[in-house]
Amino acid sequence: MASGVVNIRRDVDDKFYRYRMPILTTKIEGKGNGIKTVVPNMSDVARALSRPPTYTTKFFGCELGAQTSFDEKNDRYIVNGAHDANRLRELLDVFIDKFVLCKSCKNPETELVIIKTGRVEDIIRDCKACGERTGVDMRHKVTTFILKNPPVKVKKGKNKNTGDAAGGVGGGGSGSPGEVNGENGEAHDAHGAESDDELTKKIKAEAAELNDDAALTKAGWSADTSPEAVKQRIEALEGSMAAATLAGDDEGSDEDGNSPYAVLGRWIEENRDEDTKAYAVAIYKKAEELGIEKKHRTLPILVPALFTEDIVLEIPKYAPLLIKMVTSEKHQKSLLGGIERLVGIVHPELLPVVPKVLMELYQIDVIEEEVITQWGTHVSRKFVDKETSKRVRKASEPFLKWLEEADDDDDEDEE
Ligand SMILES: [Zn+2]
Repeated sequence: MASGVVNIRRDVDDKFYRYRMPILTTKIEGKGNGIKTVVPNMSDVARALSRPPTYTTKFFGCELGAQTSFDEKNDRYIVNGAHDANRLRELLDVFIDKFVLCKSCKNPETELVIIKTGRVEDIIRDCKACGERTGVDMRHKVTTFILKNPPVKVKKGKNKNTGDAAGGVGGGGSGSPGEVNGENGEAHDAHGAESDDELTKKIKAEAAELNDDAALTKAGWSADTSPEAVKQRIEALEGSMAAATLAGDDEGSDEDGNSPYAVLGRWIEENRDEDTKAYAVAIYKKAEELGIEKKHRTLPILVPALFTEDIVLEIPKYAPLLIKMVTSEKHQKSLLGGIERLVGIVHPELLPVVPKVLMELYQIDVIEEEVITQWGTHVSRKFVDKETSKRVRKASEPFLKWLEEADDDDDEDEE
C-alpha cells in the first residue's frame, strides 16, 4: 500500500495518471515540549507540485495551529508537535486542492501568480492546461505567508540557474534534486549544469584515447545465475567502471574487486530475496554499511545487479529504494548508466523494452525530462562501449519522441 509514489490527486485511482508525487514521509524528533515532526522529503513532494516546500510546511502549521521552521540550506522542514504522517498527507490533499489544482479543470499544472489591484493583492492559480485563472481562498492564513514570500517563476523540474539564485523562502518551487538535497554529500553548486558539460567534454576527449573493452562489446549474456557467471558479470561491470574512472571521473579510482561498489554488487547478486521489500531494505542497509548509499557511483553497479529481465515490473517494486538513492542530476545520469549496462550488456534481449523501462523510471519520478533528453541525445562511453551506448539510445527513441511531444503540449503558452 505505502508505495513510494502516489497520484497528486489521490482521489484519482488511475495507474496511468500523469501527475505523481513522492508519498509524504515524517519523522518525529525530540521529546516533551521540544517534540517536532520533520518532513524529510518535503522538498521532493513540493517540487512535484511546483510549489516551494515552505508553502506546504507553513500550510501544515496554519492548519494544525503549530509553529513551523525551515532550514532550506539543509533541506529541513519542521512542524512543531508530533503529527501523524497520514494526517499530514490529508492536509497535503487539502493544500493541493486549494493551492495547486486548477479550480476549473483540476489539473495540477498551475502556477501561483500575485495580482495587485490598488492595495489589494490576490493569489491566482494560472492553469497551463486550460488557461483559466482561478483565485485561491484569501481568507486562509497561509496566503499572508505567500504574499510575503512570493513565488519565483520556475519551470517544473527545469530550473538550472533560476530558483537557487533567489535562495529566499519563496525561492523557487523546485530546484533540481541535487540542489535541494543537502544530505547527499555531493553538493552541487548553482552552476552544476555548466561544469557537467565541461566534464562531458573532458570525458569525450579522454575516452577517445581508450580502447574498447572487448569483453563488453560481446553482448549476449544469458541470465546465468551460477556463481561463475555472476562473478564474470560483476567483473565485466567493474571493468567498464574502471574505464570510466580513467576517463575523468572526479572521485578517484576504485576499480579493484574489493571496492565497496564491487562488494555491494556481489552482495546484491548473491542475496536475492523474493520478498522485494525486505530485499530493498537490506540492500540499502548494506550500502549504508559500506558507506556508499549516497554515492552516485553506486547506481551503475546496483542497477544491473538488482534488475532482471523483468525490469519493467520490478521498477515500481523498487521505487522507494530508487527514490531514496537517486538524489541529484548526477545520480540520475548514473542510474541511466546502470540501465545502459543492464540492457546493453547483461540482458541485451531487453533492448526492445527500453522505452518502457524509461517510462517506468519517469513515472516514479527518479529521472527528469531534461536529464533523459540530454542523455538520449549524447552517446557516451562513460558506462559502456560506444556501440552499446548507441544501440541503447537508438532503442530509447520512441520514449524520447513521446517526451518531446508531451513537452510541446505543455509548452504551448509559456514564453
Ligand atoms: Zn485548468
